Amino acid sequence: MLIDAHCHLDRYKENLGHALEQIKQHRIFTISNSMDLPSYKQNVKIAATSDFILPIFGIHPWNASEYVGCLKDLDWAISESPMIGEIGLDYYFVSETSRYDDQRDVFEYLLRAASRQKKIVIVHTKGAESETFQLLNQYNTERVIIHWYSGPWHILKAMVEHGFYFTIGVEVLFSQHIQDIARYLPAELMLTETDNPGGKQSITGTIGTPLLIKDVIGKLAEIRGTSAQIIITTVQNNLVRVGDNDPWLTRVGASSV
Ligand SMILES: [Zn+2]
Repeated sequence: MLIDAHCHLDRYKENLGHALEQIKQHRIFTISNSMDLPSYKQNVKIAATSDFILPIFGIHPWNASEYVGCLKDLDWAISESPMIGEIGLDYYFVSETSRYDDQRDVFEYLLRAASRQKKIVIVHTKGAESETFQLLNQYNTERVIIHWYSGPWHILKAMVEHGFYFTIGVEVLFSQHIQDIARYLPAELMLTETDNPGGKQSITGTIGTPLLIKDVIGKLAEIRGTSAQIIITTVQNNLVRVGDNDPWLTRVGASSV
């Protein structure tokens, strides 16, 4: 089974039907991350139509200011969500430093809950890699998937030493820095993602479809001097390992993963 560990199915809008068809046809296990409460509710609705889709709740750092005053209202979603994502900090795309306190408050609230509930977190670190890493350590978050890491080497190395997992996505097709990261990562910490539909769009202007995951896998195989099949098997095994017998593994058919 192919693994797309980070995308946003709720954002496909009128292209959703086509995306769901590809997911089913090519058996792509898809973790649909949320950016806020409405996107989570939408992802849950979409996932009800497919065994291949796992909807998860998170508040994206871009939306932190909207939720910082009502964090308790998030508790039901945190509790029912099998993982927590997309969460984290962003000091790159968010330039108003006045919003950073809100980002940190929301991220810490979600980390505290994830740590208590022993859930995997899927983390956005853009431009805030050092502080994100420090907070993940502070809250003893044990199972971490870092999404689309593009930051400095020394923090990447420290994260690898902590056993964090990393999703490699569409930028590996275009960026030397991401290709170097993809070559460096230990095989046992590597996962794949598309960040669809917007990930590709932010680079090429056209939206990504679920099959983009095959391009990512092919490029990873080329960079690492191995076969696509070995990448696929390695990523499957890694997902099962980080899943650590969580109920969602069986709910989405771990036996066939
Ligand atoms: Zn994302």
